[in-house]
Amino acid sequence: MIINVGNVKIGSDYIPIQTMIKNPINQVDKIIKKIEYLSNSGCDLIRVAVPDANSIKFLKLIVKKSVIPIIADIHFDHKLAIMAVDAGVSKIRINPGNIQDEKKIKEIIECVKTNDIPVRIGINSGSLPKHLIKQYGNDNLKIMIESAREELKFFEKYNFDKIVLSFKSSNVIETIKINQIAKKEFQYPLHIGATEAGDITDGTIKNSIALSYLLLNGIGDTIRVSLTSNEENEIIVAKKILESTGKRKSLLEIISCPTCSRTEINIENIVKDIKDRIKDIKLKKSVKIAVMGCIVNGPGEAMHADFGVACGKGKSIIFKKGKKIKIINNNRILDELLIILKDYYEN
Ligand code: SF4
Repeated sequence: MIINVGNVKIGSDYIPIQTMIKNPINQVDKIIKKIEYLSNSGCDLIRVAVPDANSIKFLKLIVKKSVIPIIADIHFDHKLAIMAVDAGVSKIRINPGNIQDEKKIKEIIECVKTNDIPVRIGINSGSLPKHLIKQYGNDNLKIMIESAREELKFFEKYNFDKIVLSFKSSNVIETIKINQIAKKEFQYPLHIGATEAGDITDGTIKNSIALSYLLLNGIGDTIRVSLTSNEENEIIVAKKILESTGKRKSLLEIISCPTCSRTEINIENIVKDIKDRIKDIKLKKSVKIAVMGCIVNGPGEAMHADFGVACGKGKSIIFKKGKKIKIINNNRILDELLIILKDYYEN
């Protein structure tokens, strides 16, 4: 089943990446600039929290100026969902943990049906319905599935099926298990991600393990990597997960050696600087660049790179497919690599 979110499809071979804006919603200009930057970095969809009715006027402006579709994140107040749809969002996300009343859900359904807007029913292990917790104790998997079933019952009763489901937990094993069950139980596309997963290190590891496992097993139609970090980092990690699992073609791969006692220069800084310099270049075809820590083993170890640098004390060797082509001073490393990159695209 394919769900259209504006011009982005969820449920096709292409797995869209999404993130959530972390600025207060009234910072419209900053948000618009950020969305443009994130879109250029590989983000397909943006979610914005809509905390109250006062947010709607800002949401309207964001929707109008955004270069990619906007999803409204709604909790507690079903009227906000309706107002967000009227503001022009391309999808809404509701949480069955805090919007369960049939009358209210029916109002949302009538509104999204009229406007042809899809809905994500987002179940989160941190906000499960109280009556289900009472019934099933600490069996989170059971509670999450039952919570989805209860909510879906209303959507199906009122004939609405433009639905994406998500089941999120901060626990890797629980994230994997719940999505495996959901894939078998429900026909709707799945938005996957580990939530409240931690800072850039912990969150990256947890999301990488959970999402890679799921994606490699054919589970997951859109992803969001939740990090206690900025949106750009969420996109970088999400893209790397999709590239590493073969779900998205990688245009740039930088391989770098782990360094050892032979290393004569700060390789970590060089890799960081190369990434910074390259990120604004529109890559036209895939390229693999190697950054190696010594001139003895470097070129040989990086035989499969398109080109790269083996760094020595004061001087470094530029190489192509493992063959030395030039010796340069270390202060020229970045400039030389950019010249070769340009040449690589032009020839
Ligand atoms: S390329 Fe050289 S510096 Fe890097 S790990 Fe290998 S031997 Fe050590």
